[in-house]
Amino acid sequence: MSERWKVVIVGGGFGGLSAARHLNSNLVDVTLIDRRNYYLFQPLLYQVATGSLSPGEIASPLRSVLSRQKNTRVWLGTVVDVDADSKRVFLADGTIVSYDSLIVAAGSQTSYFGHNEWQEWAAGLKSIEEATTIRHKILYAFEVAERISDPEQRRAWLTFVVVGAGPTGVELSGAIAEIARQTLKDDFRSIKPEEAQIILLDGAPRERSRPAVPEQTAAGALPDAECSSPAHPRPNPQTAQRRYQSCAHLFRACEDVPSPLRPATQAGEVLSASYPFQSPRRS
Ligand SMILES: Cc1cc2nc3c(=O)[nH]c(=O)nc-3n(C[C@H](O)[C@H](O)[C@H](O)COP(=O)(O)OP(=O)(O)OC[C@H]3O[C@@H](n4cnc5c(N)ncnc54)[C@H](O)[C@@H]3O)c2cc1C
Repeated sequence: MSERWKVVIVGGGFGGLSAARHLNSNLVDVTLIDRRNYYLFQPLLYQVATGSLSPGEIASPLRSVLSRQKNTRVWLGTVVDVDADSKRVFLADGTIVSYDSLIVAAGSQTSYFGHNEWQEWAAGLKSIEEATTIRHKILYAFEVAERISDPEQRRAWLTFVVVGAGPTGVELSGAIAEIARQTLKDDFRSIKPEEAQIILLDGAPRERSRPAVPEQTAAGALPDAECSSPAHPRPNPQTAQRRYQSCAHLFRACEDVPSPLRPATQAGEVLSASYPFQSPRRS
């Protein structure tokens, strides 16, 4: 039986995968448990939600990501409880896993600010499933509008409301505008997709929804982030400008929901530290 120190990691996202990689040592046995068997590059979810990328381009099997790391095994399972006294992790299927050290990197979930009933109507954007739901809704709206003659109804179908002007909301709004004004602009006969209206709502005053990140920091940190995403060709200056601006909003979100494994650092540092992995199609 192995005498090595047993480390269990819950979650194979940014935090969990980074921890596993740093534990690539013959001094420890690592078990990484995740409820899905793939690593998801969340920063590009909005592109799946708007049809620019397919789900497979931003997801990579955890097993293959860690295949060369011989001290690490990957388990598919949902952790439902932890007993810190007996140092055991409980999975939904009844399996119990013992550990010497436990790292919990289970991420976060979308907050509806006490209005969970909105969930039925407005999907969050944290998973492939939610991204494809949003994509369906957006593309379906254009299709319906194309077949409606009443201008008011048509206008309604071409109005998109995004709640939350944080990074996800800003990026998603920008991406909807991009498909409306560029991708779809020649594809319809009755409607003009570029006339779609995108409304971005936020409870905070406009100035406060913008993080206090110096321009210099945002511009300096982002190119690395863009480069680490293979699905992205290098953006042209115009697109880049928009992305920089979108991603500037991201800093605050990162600070709001820090990974338990990530030290609290300045916003600019967080951004570059948050991209330790390459998206699947890079190599
Ligand atoms: C749309 C969007 C865009 C973003 N853009 C950026 C960006 O540009 N730059 C940036 O730095 N950050 C960005 N972020 C934030 C970044 O993705 C998160 O900060 C980061 O993913 C958090 O890492 P994590 O390891 O804590 O959680 P996650 O990456 O969410 O990983 C958590 C993992 O835990 C697993 N898990 C959860 N519960 C259980 C359970 N009970 N049992 C087993 N497994 C479980 C999940 O399946 C998941 O794989 C963005 C986020 C979103 C949603």
